Amino acid sequence: MKNKSMGINTICTHIGEVKDEQYKGAISPLFMSNSYAYENVEVSRYPRYFNTPNQEALCKKIAALEKTEAGLILSSGMAAVSTALLAYLKKGDHVVVQQTIYGGTYNFIVEEFPKYGIEYDFTDGFLEEDFKSKIKKNTRVIYVETPSNPLMKITDLTMISRLAKDNGLISLIDNTFASPINQTPIDFGIDVVIHSATKYLGGHSDICAGAIASSQAHIDQIWNLAKNLGGSLSEYAVWLLERSMKTLALRVRAQNNNAKIIAEWLTENPLVSQVFYPGLKSHPNHSIAKKQMNGYTGMLSFELEKSINGKTFLNSLRLIKPSMSLAGVESTILAPSKASHALLGEEERKKQGISEGLLRLSVGIEDSDDLILDLKQAFTKSN
Ligand SMILES: *Cc1c(COP(=O)(O)O)cnc(C)c1O
Repeated sequence: MKNKSMGINTICTHIGEVKDEQYKGAISPLFMSNSYAYENVEVSRYPRYFNTPNQEALCKKIAALEKTEAGLILSSGMAAVSTALLAYLKKGDHVVVQQTIYGGTYNFIVEEFPKYGIEYDFTDGFLEEDFKSKIKKNTRVIYVETPSNPLMKITDLTMISRLAKDNGLISLIDNTFASPINQTPIDFGIDVVIHSATKYLGGHSDICAGAIASSQAHIDQIWNLAKNLGGSLSEYAVWLLERSMKTLALRVRAQNNNAKIIAEWLTENPLVSQVFYPGLKSHPNHSIAKKQMNGYTGMLSFELEKSINGKTFLNSLRLIKPSMSLAGVESTILAPSKASHALLGEEERKKQGISEGLLRLSVGIEDSDDLILDLKQAFTKSN
């Protein structure tokens, strides 16, 4: 099926389906086989070769959504991040990494890269000169994440891709927070798009998976390493992910709408000192966000006034659950300083602007009135 003129919901529902030729069932059958007849081709079908029927089908859906030629599904977001980075880096190479990135990616770089003799520099900020000043002779890769966790800072994708092209670098983006519904980085010239499918692509807080989308040539290069590292996803999880992604655009758009309503409500709340949501005109990067995003995601963060007891606030919430993960259909919340960014240490958190009173809210698909009522009663109890 061609997707040139297809709407996003049709792509989510139909692209990459496995046809049930035997029984004509309405959905993709699940092929659990790890052994297939040798077809006299170079690479026969095998789960760790990422080419079983269900994997192939789901890769097509991801690629269609990210508007790329090809895709790859992996066993976790970190499998996608680590495989993509290592596919382009070898001993003596250097990578420029955006200052604020997902904690697991940060750990992967600082704990593992020295073992392989790969050099790295984190930028001091999000602007062109912050990236440019870190590029060296041996730089091969530029790595960004936008919007970034937890302050929803926006990196200009056109600027990054131009910088990469001018300096002969491969540009990689972690597009997890935006999802392909809100942002397709290929449109701006970014080379490789990475997802933790554990988040929006899965969307129901029940799958751990990762994805990569890019040109066929890039996916071939990444595949060469991926088959050696072995981070393929089980067929059952692949099938579940395909099912989840049928409602991706419906879910994400509902989450965008809810987050906007809540962000605006929080802005008006005297017990909140600051709200970080790229959809707000007051967000320092709103104009870049507007240029490169179709929606502003279901993620936002806000800072409690000093008079609010943060612990009591979190414990008082009834509908919104405390959770490390994000992007599920149910709303979840965490205090980055105590959870996702606890390992960074106080000083580094301060440098990045992550205060003790900061809360990160992942807005779900519940009715926004109910979410606001829940926040309201928690404010009352903790003030
Ligand atoms: C969760 C997350 C990851 C890692 O994904 P896993 O599926 O947990 O391995 C990477 N990047 C971002 C932005 C994330 O939120």
